[in-house]
Amino acid sequence: MELAGVILVSGEKMLSVSDILTYNYCQRKLFLQKVLGIVEKAPREITFSGTIKHAVFEYATNQEQVMICSILDDSADVFVLYKQLFAKGLRFVLLREKKILEQLQKNMIDVYKEYILLFDDAITEKTAVVLRAIKEFHVYGNDLWEKLPKIQAECSVSSSSLGLRGVIDQLELFGEQVVPLELKTGKAPKQGVYEQHQLQIAAYILLLQEKYPTVTYGYVYYLANNEKRKVLINPFMKQEVLQLIDLSQKLLSKQVLPLYCENKQKCQNCEIKKHCYDESYIVEKMQNMQKHSKALNNT
Ligand code: SF4
Repeated sequence: MELAGVILVSGEKMLSVSDILTYNYCQRKLFLQKVLGIVEKAPREITFSGTIKHAVFEYATNQEQVMICSILDDSADVFVLYKQLFAKGLRFVLLREKKILEQLQKNMIDVYKEYILLFDDAITEKTAVVLRAIKEFHVYGNDLWEKLPKIQAECSVSSSSLGLRGVIDQLELFGEQVVPLELKTGKAPKQGVYEQHQLQIAAYILLLQEKYPTVTYGYVYYLANNEKRKVLINPFMKQEVLQLIDLSQKLLSKQVLPLYCENKQKCQNCEIKKHCYDESYIVEKMQNMQKHSKALNNT
């Protein structure tokens, strides 16, 4: 089966999956970000943990083939090999992010000791897959690699018919089976997955279905408590994604500032709250946008 790679479809004004999730969170936020260009980066302390974990998974995914091909007989300890791979990945990423560690006044060794434990469940799961393949096919080295599901990190997908694009954290390909997986740094809810995460997986499934019609489910992996939760798409979720694309497109094509969102709890956690509630700043931005579009219309 062909690896997914970058599925590129033409389309100038595509929305990203993150745009439609923002619309679902707060319409005003999408307008402020995309139309008025108000973007505020989340504090480094918040993004640091996610950046490290994502990068280690990406490193391990990219280096996995070499490790698997080094398994030449039953004497290899697959768990230890995976443990070494993730440890190497974590060291590599922490050294790369040394400056950020210094800015956050974090000690590299302490961070290493804390984070290395977070990969244990993933390592156990991957070890089990490899041992199952060895037991079933009695193969090693490159032949063993051929029998394993392939993971692709940071996979770009897009569709001009949906008008949507996205980047999937991990895509698992095995035979005719394709499964998207999204890594989340926080804890899993008591049951299932959070609404935004469910929509995100549903959007990825719709994007993937253009090339792989049999894709029906994906996973959200909550790294903080090592929980992998399944999301199975249904017609309601599909409809919701399509509706969000349509509504987001309509919102962005008009020059009308949406009202504040009703749920003030959302505003508490919103990184652009300061600008959003600064009326004179918003008025100035709106006037600039109107002037700019008038000038464009006159050219
Ligand atoms: S502060 Fe509230 S109303 Fe403003 S963009 Fe954020 S969530 Fe929306």
